[in-house]
Amino acid sequence: MTRSIALSSLIFASLVTLAGCKREAPAVPAASDVAAPAKIVDSARISASDSEPGNWLSTGRGYNEQRYSPLDRITTGNVASLGLAWTYKVDVDRGAEATPVVADGVMYTTGAYSIVYAINAKSGELLWKYDPQINRAKSGNACCDVVNRGVALGHGKVFVAAFDGRVVAINAKDGSKAWETDASDGTGRTFALTGSPLLIGKRVLVGSGGAEFNARGYVSAFDIDTGKLAWRFYTVPGDPKKPDENPALTLARKTWTGDQYWQQGGGGTVWNGMAYDPETDLLYFGTGNGVSWNKLERGEPDGDNLFISSIVAVKATTGEYVWHYQETPNDNWDYDACANIVLADVEFQGQPRKVLLHAPKNGFFYVIDRTSGRLLSAEKFAPTTWATHVDLKTGRPVVDQKVADWSKEAKIVAPGPFGAHNWQPMSFSPKTGLVYIPVQDVASLMAPHKAPGFDNREGVWNIGGDLPLPDDDKVIAQIAGSLKGRLVAWDPIAQKQVWSQTHANIWNGGTLATAGNLVFQGTADGRVVAYSADRGEKLWESPANSGVMAGPVSYEIDGEQYISVMAGWGGVFPLIGGAIANYAKVRPEARVLSFKLGGKASLPAPKNEVVPLPELQALKADDKTLAHGAELFLGACAPCHGLNAVGGGVIPDLRYLTPDKHAIFAGIVAGARSDRGMPSFAGRFSLDEVEAIRQYLIKRSHDLKAALDAQAAPVAAK
Ligand code: CA
Repeated sequence: MTRSIALSSLIFASLVTLAGCKREAPAVPAASDVAAPAKIVDSARISASDSEPGNWLSTGRGYNEQRYSPLDRITTGNVASLGLAWTYKVDVDRGAEATPVVADGVMYTTGAYSIVYAINAKSGELLWKYDPQINRAKSGNACCDVVNRGVALGHGKVFVAAFDGRVVAINAKDGSKAWETDASDGTGRTFALTGSPLLIGKRVLVGSGGAEFNARGYVSAFDIDTGKLAWRFYTVPGDPKKPDENPALTLARKTWTGDQYWQQGGGGTVWNGMAYDPETDLLYFGTGNGVSWNKLERGEPDGDNLFISSIVAVKATTGEYVWHYQETPNDNWDYDACANIVLADVEFQGQPRKVLLHAPKNGFFYVIDRTSGRLLSAEKFAPTTWATHVDLKTGRPVVDQKVADWSKEAKIVAPGPFGAHNWQPMSFSPKTGLVYIPVQDVASLMAPHKAPGFDNREGVWNIGGDLPLPDDDKVIAQIAGSLKGRLVAWDPIAQKQVWSQTHANIWNGGTLATAGNLVFQGTADGRVVAYSADRGEKLWESPANSGVMAGPVSYEIDGEQYISVMAGWGGVFPLIGGAIANYAKVRPEARVLSFKLGGKASLPAPKNEVVPLPELQALKADDKTLAHGAELFLGACAPCHGLNAVGGGVIPDLRYLTPDKHAIFAGIVAGARSDRGMPSFAGRFSLDEVEAIRQYLIKRSHDLKAALDAQAAPVAAK
């Protein structure tokens, strides 16, 4: 009995953020300093990014985060001859979510566990590597893999927001550490950094994640020379016995009830998606869900719960609140407002408007006046049932509670928590006026906990409900078949789809639009694809050996235009959604792929290991113990090892645990394999609880064997 799974050892998480900055006097001599081996990247250069189309200086290229390249050597007419210029294999085969940045011939990117790479962008040769040595015992400190969404460049340094909560400044020249600082709030709560930082002036802006783990959301601004905290904006109110950290929180507190919210951290984490407008000095960021997802389990039957699931604008120099727009008041569905934010200057109803474009998990495409925060329009860009529409007079969604309120009884809600559009970045082409969105049709069954008295625990997912998934393989296949990924070209002014391309799976990559009338996107089934931007015709594709989630970039060296993207399957879908994601049979090989016209480099053959189902352990637990084990598994183990203990191909499928691992199971749970990325749960569970989890896994191994035997039977009969 064999079964093909991809074996890859480790885990990580990431994010993407962007911003824009105002032209300001450069703090260092720039063009005149001929002795410098490379020019200094600063806010002025990022603000004027269109004047140097050959570079990609900040995650979203410019502060407007449009992810649009003005380069046009690669066109609809010649893209068919695009080939690999080089590839670079990163250390850890876990989710690769970083958008590389490219400055003056050097690419800077990150892989799993926040490892930073500086690569010759013409040849693919490694210049230096910086490994922040994340404690892998803490690999479970984020919901969604040990990923990282990339670095910020500035004034000779490279900034990474490391998974374990440190912000590290690295000298761009040689990869040595300049400084590091702790970005935690000092409470000891579980949180993680996965997003790319943003350079604004002489500061680096960093958000944080962990709203599934009782984190409190905030954005921090650190001085780039010293690492000293300049300001911090908390997104939800804290301990009422202490003064509110900013005046906006005093107003926000009125939208919460009781004490549970601040005792549990509150959520509203800024784990992705920042943008900046240098003209107004406004920094825009999106906030995540509350703790817990289930509004009743966080004691909030109807409060708006500011500023969760909102776009917030603050002054970048001071962190002072300016405006907010809450996309999902009283969020009950994990509708993080953390998808990337795009700024554009457009004509709206005959008037020039400075707008903010956003397509968050909740399924509505928002056009917001970014100077005032006023909602201009909001329409559904994907199947969406939780609200009928957004009332433009009040700016509020009209929620269909009958359809969508799962806090007391199970409901199928669209979109589900994977989101109609998650962190995979969308792009905007000023040439076509269209936004290119990696859309997902993802209705999900959401259900309150079966057992009364939800137990909020530090260090595990506290979503306040179950994500029930039937363990019948045929039903799983049906669900997998119903999840559709699409690349959608969206007209943000008319609020309608112009074209779309359907993919085999959800969890496809971010997009890049170019002046060559092209849109590039990697896919979950392991390809990099180019389409015409105006009509959506597929013109080219290349294999990637791995699912691709990250956003591509474009740059130019010596008259040649390159398209680069990180391949590397991982993140929340293949981890928690293993049983569904498994249908794609995607590998997690993580590498940078860089293409150019006439490129002749080749991709190494994909790994494909076949692992047999080991000898089964005896099942000794009764039904009650198994149910308890299943519930514990859901909170602590399923986020990485998959619902129903079915792996998605990135990290080990625990139904395949070998007898020697069963023998030391309690030790593994307590951290014995933390060097391999298995988090330590020491002290979190009693020995009886650990054994209940193990018995549940044994049951799932027996279930698998029965299913494989049933499949094999007709073949054997032939
Ligand atoms: Ca979330």
